[in-house]
Amino acid sequence: MGRVAVGVAVGCAVVTCAISAVMVAGRVRSRRRWRRVVRVLEELEEAAATAVGRLRQVVDAMAVEMHAGLASEGGSKLKMLLTFVDNLPNGSEKGTYYALDLGGTNFRVLRVQLRGQRSDNLEHTVDRQAIPQHLMTSTSEELFDFIASSLKKFVEEEENLSELSQVKRRELGFTFSFPVRQASVSSGILIKWTKGFAIDDMVGRDVSECLSDAMSRGGLDMRVAALINDSVGTLALGHYHDEDTVAAVIIGTGTNACYLERADAIIKCQGLLTTSGGMVVNMEWGNFWSSHLPRTSYDTDLDADSPNPNDQGFEKMISGMYLGDIVRRVILRMSQESDIFGPTSSKLFIRFILRTPLMAEMHEDDSSDLRVVAKILRDTLEISDVPLKVRKLIVKICDVVTRRAARLAAAGIVGILKKIGRDGSGGITSARVKGGSQGKMRRTVVAIEGGLYTGYGMFREYLDAAVREILGEDVAQHVILKVMEDGSGIGAALLAASHSASSVDS
Ligand code: ADP
Ligand code: MG
Repeated sequence: MGRVAVGVAVGCAVVTCAISAVMVAGRVRSRRRWRRVVRVLEELEEAAATAVGRLRQVVDAMAVEMHAGLASEGGSKLKMLLTFVDNLPNGSEKGTYYALDLGGTNFRVLRVQLRGQRSDNLEHTVDRQAIPQHLMTSTSEELFDFIASSLKKFVEEEENLSELSQVKRRELGFTFSFPVRQASVSSGILIKWTKGFAIDDMVGRDVSECLSDAMSRGGLDMRVAALINDSVGTLALGHYHDEDTVAAVIIGTGTNACYLERADAIIKCQGLLTTSGGMVVNMEWGNFWSSHLPRTSYDTDLDADSPNPNDQGFEKMISGMYLGDIVRRVILRMSQESDIFGPTSSKLFIRFILRTPLMAEMHEDDSSDLRVVAKILRDTLEISDVPLKVRKLIVKICDVVTRRAARLAAAGIVGILKKIGRDGSGGITSARVKGGSQGKMRRTVVAIEGGLYTGYGMFREYLDAAVREILGEDVAQHVILKVMEDGSGIGAALLAASHSASSVDS
């Protein structure tokens, strides 16, 4: 019996040891796993760092590239395109005008009533819809027939509703937010597609003509009075409300900016005469590039997998089309380096499966157990049972990616201010009120539009804070960032009004 008891005791000890050994090994493995994912995060943070010194280098690079793009055709990755918009709306516009806004994700049709005097509340109706995915890669006829028929339906509904305000001759502002080389304010050819569009037969063709042809085919009588991009529309609406508005920035599916430049500074068009002495320049800043941009391996991979590699580098780090996909790539890397998410979900290999609004929801999840993060991981990426500390890691990834994007966009904005002497630095005299009170800086307004900026609170906060950080409080108090809701569409209607046949005739 004694021997049996000893045997049992020894046996128990062996089992206990074995269990503890397994537990310790398990703990060691789990710690190692955790360390591996933390390292992925740390590497991301380091590669994506945007200390204010780095941002100032981006500011300088932006200003330098603007000069280069204005100096000669092809002088910079910034195309600095002429818009032929030399006068911005000021409130005197009158009549009923239509607008079409073809963005990257959404398509809007608008009708705007202008009373001939500035109004805080511009009377307008708007119809929004998503652009059917298949049309983005179809033919130009299919895309434009869809646009023209949506417009026709809208016009018929609107004009049935308000018989009193029948328009004699319908005029349209067309916001087409892709790079266009303009021949006049109402015409221009498509240089290239961006934001996932790829309709080859359209490149090199006149955009207004394509729309006019589609409207004729569809039996809609309307004249394209202005062909602009979304940033120009936003600047127009900004200026209509506030004459200190000198630049506009779009941060939606894609990103772009435009600003009011002196005609004599557009050196590549020597002798350019405009009635105002200035012209709005469409920077096409989505294509900006500088070695100072904090690029990660995820950006390089995203670019290589895109239909436009080596193009739109700034846009791919900043805009709504891409941020979610950068986050997906980081989660995929973590999942491949460690089994912290269980076996790697096949969903993690699907590009753009994690849309930016979902990423924003995870980032802004304020529940104590991060249940929104858990839900999105489960429903979208098919990753279940993720412990809280790993969910926190996901929030951190979203934070790093969004913070970098917002801060780079802020540096871009300050770059524009620097170019036009409104950043309180080199151009300090021009930034001050001429002949005005000593040392007082001129008020400077930048109009902003786009779903990423307006819909994603954390992005907006990071951007606003970075502008203040780069400029310093003294200067920043004179710089106002103003959201222009539907600016790209309403602005197009305003520009159609100021360039309408009747105003040109008179
Ligand atoms: P478009 O670029 O088509 O004119 P918007 O300006 O409306 O469209 O921007 C839409 C884009 O903005 C979406 O594709 C998405 O990436 C981003 N977005 C919209 N709402 C949010 C949100 N709440 N959080 C994060 N991103 C958003
Ligand atoms: Mg838009």
